[in-house]
Amino acid sequence: MISFDYVTAADVESAVRAASAPSARFVAGGTTLIDLMKLGVERPTLLIDVNTIARRNAPIATVTDLPGGGLRLGALAHMSDVAWDARIRDRFPLVSQSLLLAASGQLRNMATMGGNILQRTRCAYFRDTATPCNKREPGSGCAALDGVNRTHAILGTSERCIATHPSDLAVALVALDATVNVRGATTRTIPFADFHLLPGEHPEHETTLKPGELITSIDIPALAFAKRSLYLKVRDRASYAFALASAAVALDVQGGTIRGARVALGGVGTKPWRSHEAEHALIGKVANDASFKAAATAALAGAHPRKDNAFKVELAKRTLVRALTEVSA
Ligand code: SF4
Repeated sequence: MISFDYVTAADVESAVRAASAPSARFVAGGTTLIDLMKLGVERPTLLIDVNTIARRNAPIATVTDLPGGGLRLGALAHMSDVAWDARIRDRFPLVSQSLLLAASGQLRNMATMGGNILQRTRCAYFRDTATPCNKREPGSGCAALDGVNRTHAILGTSERCIATHPSDLAVALVALDATVNVRGATTRTIPFADFHLLPGEHPEHETTLKPGELITSIDIPALAFAKRSLYLKVRDRASYAFALASAAVALDVQGGTIRGARVALGGVGTKPWRSHEAEHALIGKVANDASFKAAATAALAGAHPRKDNAFKVELAKRTLVRALTEVSA
């Protein structure tokens, strides 16, 4: 049992002001944070409920148009609302698919855009306070390195942490060059590719958010060929499981030749994994199996598997080839 204070925020400014307290956490859907508080992994002293901001600030909980065809996802927009938004389904189908494949209907009705991209890893050792974990307790060690690491990452790992990033949505967003708008002492915009950090020597630092900064929205810039996009997820069971491997792809194919490509991988990286290597391997090539296999080889060239997860190298390659094949059909 942990004790904490709870306040509601009337607007973004008062939420940010309240967050200057030590160990304060924003809470919206609570689908990750409350879980981790029950496990004793998260121990905030103050919860700032930001759901109430939407009463005065409707755009923070909705999808709005950006000039030129992009879309802004309010930080408090629920996964279900974004997944079923007609503009999302038409212009960025991979975003809708990533949300629908991510969680049960109940969770999608509670969880928000801001919370989704801030999800903590599902590494079992991170969630078990009886085991060493550098992410939960810096310097304590990493039980996964020599433990059961079948579901862990093969890209972007370090000797301090090999945990995967769990968000499906984040994989789609990094492929689309999204940006994250945040409010703290100042207002700033963070490119999605720079938002999540590699574990390196400090796996406890997961994002470039500064203490007390609140995500207000996520912008997806216009990308005409994203109409032809797909999020493909492979997992241990057919529904409501985290990815063993996933691929977010968009292709611009003209006359059988690939003119533009976006590729990102999930379930295999310590952060949502954009593969510029795969994109370079695809652009200018004929859209066929040989090109897709070459792209998959390029995407996984830097993989560093551990004792239980070498299968992920081939699984991720096949997932990417299948996604590219389906989207180009
Ligand atoms: Fe902790 Fe990362 Fe090791 Fe998991 S892989 S036990 S999250 S340090």
